[in-house]
Amino acid sequence: MQSNDRLNHDISQAIQTVLPQRFSVFNLHEPCFDAEEESRVLECVKTNWVSYAGKFVSEFEQRLADILGVKHVIAVSSGTVALYMALKTLGINDGDEVLVPSLTFVATANAVHHAGGIAHFVEAEHDTLGIDAEKLDKYLADVGQFNQDGRFINKMTGRPIRAMIPVHIFGHPAPIKALQALAKKYNLLLIEDCAESLGTTYEGKSLGNFSDAAILSFNGNKIITTGGGGAIATNDDALGKKIKHLTTTAKLVHPYEFEHDEIAYNFRMPNINAALGVGQLQKLDQYLANKRKLASQYQIVFNESPFVDFVSEPENSVSNYWLNAIKLKPDYAEQRNDLINHLMLQKISVRPLWQPMHTLKMYQNNPRMHDLAITEDLYARIICLPSSPFLYENKQA
Ligand SMILES: *Cc1c(COP(=O)(O)O)cnc(C)c1O
Repeated sequence: MQSNDRLNHDISQAIQTVLPQRFSVFNLHEPCFDAEEESRVLECVKTNWVSYAGKFVSEFEQRLADILGVKHVIAVSSGTVALYMALKTLGINDGDEVLVPSLTFVATANAVHHAGGIAHFVEAEHDTLGIDAEKLDKYLADVGQFNQDGRFINKMTGRPIRAMIPVHIFGHPAPIKALQALAKKYNLLLIEDCAESLGTTYEGKSLGNFSDAAILSFNGNKIITTGGGGAIATNDDALGKKIKHLTTTAKLVHPYEFEHDEIAYNFRMPNINAALGVGQLQKLDQYLANKRKLASQYQIVFNESPFVDFVSEPENSVSNYWLNAIKLKPDYAEQRNDLINHLMLQKISVRPLWQPMHTLKMYQNNPRMHDLAITEDLYARIICLPSSPFLYENKQA
């Protein structure tokens, strides 16, 4: 009991020295809007260009392509839809297994299921929170074998393992070079889940450039938001074209005829949402700078803590620090919920990690690595802290 109080008090004090005291409520991650969004959204309303066509959609896509340094970006209605489209267009077939970290937001696994695939859950590593490449290599060598057509088959289930979706958690790069090498070695398609990592670079290159296709999310709590929305990014010309075609009902260009050449979808991002997004992108550099400064302030106050470690960016990377997080030292794991409740009572919104996918009811019978102890340990010990970009304040001033 004594040590509980001490821990709660210390962590709460540390957080409060970082957060600006002019606020009384601290949400986990809030957007901030100003004239940049207002003027553009108003323009949509005043001109009636609110729906699936309009200049802001292409402007948003072009700006994202420039930021990421990729050739094609297709804006869609959510990150989940982006993942689904990437899987479908890359050729995931019914019954194909797709390697997914058990430590991710549920959307990653859901999209695999909707695309007809079967999520096969793999282990995370402490340093990056991403997929552990070394363990995965050993595991795959053990459970799989190539068939005559060069497909990598899961010996236990008889199904092909076709793809892998590394997730860059909290904006921190998964060991993407090592995972890229594994994808090559085992003949797997590679899709980066960059829903949380817009603005992060690894070895000087934007995340999203290390795979066949990458996806982004612009949900309300992400680093920039379009209200709801997502995007697929790819350097593959044919794939980019195919995704754009399929997300816009596969309509052929014609002045008035409605001719469609495939059964397709209406998954595009509406113009009014893209207007919000273009406004937000005007400020992305500022957000990134502020979020990194906020992260370094948290880092300083937690540096000497006997109770927690601050989760910092992996080597060779510049993270967007979408969500700041602390990891309770192993001895204090049991006090996680107590600390969460203590902070919430002070109107400091904090959250644990997502419950690991292999523990969720609908996914508990999916194929998985037997040993997911690190995933479970991270889930038991990590707490996310308020991280909105406007929470940075220059304490020297
Ligand atoms: C937010 C998120 C998604 C899904 O995005 P939506 O736009 O909410 O559908 C997918 N993966 C991860 C890791 C996310 O954080």
